[in-house]
Amino acid sequence: MTSTARTVEFSRDATNVFFHILTRCNLKCRHCYINPAQHGAADLSLTIIEAWLEIFAGRSPRANVIFLGGEPTLHPDLAGAIRAARRLGYASVTVDTNGYLFHDILDHVTPQEVDFFSFSLDGPDPAVNDPIRGRGSFAHCTAGIRAARRRGFRTSLIYTVSSDNIEALQRMPALLGELGVDRFFIQVIGIRGKSAERAGKEERLQVSKADWLAAVAPVARAVADLGITVTWPKVYLDPEEPFACAGRVADNFFIFPNGRVYRCPLCEDFPLHAFTIEGRRLVATGKINEADLFQLDIPEGCVMNRLIQPANIEYDAEGKPLHRIACCLLKEEISPR
Ligand code: SF4
Ligand code: SF4
Repeated sequence: MTSTARTVEFSRDATNVFFHILTRCNLKCRHCYINPAQHGAADLSLTIIEAWLEIFAGRSPRANVIFLGGEPTLHPDLAGAIRAARRLGYASVTVDTNGYLFHDILDHVTPQEVDFFSFSLDGPDPAVNDPIRGRGSFAHCTAGIRAARRRGFRTSLIYTVSSDNIEALQRMPALLGELGVDRFFIQVIGIRGKSAERAGKEERLQVSKADWLAAVAPVARAVADLGITVTWPKVYLDPEEPFACAGRVADNFFIFPNGRVYRCPLCEDFPLHAFTIEGRRLVATGKINEADLFQLDIPEGCVMNRLIQPANIEYDAEGKPLHRIACCLLKEEISPR
């Protein structure tokens, strides 16, 4: 099978709603980006979830929603939230899960209601995954994927690359083929949440440019050869490639239980959110917020990357950056043909 990689430009037409309906979780992953001090600790009621979904459905009639947490299947009304999204006309519904699939969620929704169950797994075996995500999590996640597939759901798998597991990435194609997932997302660790705490203790979590480039493309090609679509962040722009900030040109909303709405994931450790939800209204926050930062043009590319994770930028002897960092939301994709 042949396959080709392409950069997926930001779509100005699609709205993506990343909806954290709670921040509770049964796991304590080493790189968890959830920060209850900044994001809240409440489980949103179904009434509030519906009201907030309605706000974004009103802004864009064919928005996509991704339900997240914490672990969203811990929410007893997740099935109701999924049905509410369908009723409101969302174009697609995805559930991001750690695979424990609480409240027998697979028994309460159908493949017609959920486009994808997206599972997070950070290693090809328990020896790599479980030290990162918790003992027993590899077995639970892979069992969850198999259960979802048996019931006819489409599945994807997200692998967050860090110094903890980059060497094991090359062993993922065999597991993905065996599990039969439809899509594979390679993610790169962001220095936020728990990772920011670890980085503060001088732990080196991010991988070098050379290691990232050497590892990702061959694995992506091998996985695409199995008939699985693979998506991964661009991270390093080629010299001739234009830089674009999704905060300026795309329509992504990252919603948290305390009502904060961010446009940029890298801002989520700080009270920089562009909006808050008040009642049934989306209200712009006062200055300075993330939208002011999106306007800054710097030679390093992404301004938030420069502020919170500058270790991935290299400079020449005159202090000129050797490469620009792409928006964290800019993706490469390789699809089987
Ligand atoms: S499963 Fe997700 S929300 Fe839960 S601890 Fe891990 S990264 Fe955080
Ligand atoms: S990651 Fe950088 S480029 Fe992307 S939205 Fe945030 S600030 Fe903009």
